[in-house]
Amino acid sequence: MHGFSTRAIHAGQEPDPTTGAVIVPIHATSTFAQDGVGGTRGGYEYSRSANPTRTALQECLAALEGGRHALAFGSGMGASDVLLRTLLRPGDHVVLPHDAYGGTFRLVDKVLVPWGVEYTPVDLADVAALRAAMRPETSVVWCETPTNPLLGIADITAVAEIAHGGGARLVVDNTFASPYLQQPLALGADVVLHSTTKYVGGHSDVVGGALVTGDAELAERLTFAQNATGSVPGPFDAWLTLRGVKTLAVRMERHCDNAERIAELLARHPAVEQVLYPGLPEHPGHEVAAKQMRRFGGMVSFMVRGGREAALRVCAGTQLFILAESLGGVESLIEHPGAMTHMSVAGSALEVPDALVRLSVGIEDVEDLVEDLRTALDAVAD
Ligand code: PLP
Repeated sequence: MHGFSTRAIHAGQEPDPTTGAVIVPIHATSTFAQDGVGGTRGGYEYSRSANPTRTALQECLAALEGGRHALAFGSGMGASDVLLRTLLRPGDHVVLPHDAYGGTFRLVDKVLVPWGVEYTPVDLADVAALRAAMRPETSVVWCETPTNPLLGIADITAVAEIAHGGGARLVVDNTFASPYLQQPLALGADVVLHSTTKYVGGHSDVVGGALVTGDAELAERLTFAQNATGSVPGPFDAWLTLRGVKTLAVRMERHCDNAERIAELLARHPAVEQVLYPGLPEHPGHEVAAKQMRRFGGMVSFMVRGGREAALRVCAGTQLFILAESLGGVESLIEHPGAMTHMSVAGSALEVPDALVRLSVGIEDVEDLVEDLRTALDAVAD
């Protein structure tokens, strides 16, 4: 098998057979001419069902995650919705990370619970807690590692063993790590989910999602459900994502380099109470992360001394770190999860600490990033 970057640049992306175009064309068409009824040229009929630009992206993502089947969606949440409504039935139970992405929690709590599904939030770093949460009707264990926004680490192999032992499937949301840093299917996951909006696309210019699995029967059911419900990316969105993914490896190396430097700054700064970064030896998940990840990623969270008010001041005090939701783009972002990305978990068991600030460390010159953040922190420490 070719190396990661070779797959990112070539998998699913043969030069166009009719024109020789090196880059996969944006097939901006809703429908495809047929040579007689049922006589498609290459299997394409209608772009909700399949589109060649989307197919190229799907083949590339499957190759990067080491799965045989990938489906690209109009958003990460679209992918989560199709996946959960395919895997779950009313009466089923799902285990969620205790700090799951707020949108995933909202989907389960507000859409699937009224449909008859039950859930238990669990700290998946604690395998005993996971074992205790499993029920006969548990059909899905949903894992994020690293988690959003607390950067918790779960041991995918151990979680897979427990999930499978209880007859459940393991889904890993691999958005924070990206397939460059972590490949959950090889560690026992049944399905990998991405918000391709983040590192996979990498340039904050497109929203998308993806599912990857090695299970042909499940892939067929997911394909049916996606076509039936319609959560597909347009060809331009698929093309932008494919354009971004080609540079994933080099971007991730730089994200990791920069995040390590930022974590060092935070660890020494008096305005910071605690740094949450799996690359730090004192992080409780450091050893597991070192075992299952290539490096530790570009996301860094921290608790500011002085609680919510001080955290909001840090968020307002940076110039280069842009105050914005989302993550995984080339530009650095800062946010207050409690008031922004994770507002939907306020008042629930998944509520995040008020003093928490989350950084998506970009690939700018690291000296500039360090200076920017230090200035904002100094203002709060004074
Ligand atoms: N999973 C994680 C870990 C996320 O951070 C997000 C979005 O922030 C999603 C899923 C949902 O993806 P999207 O916003 O593309 O729908």
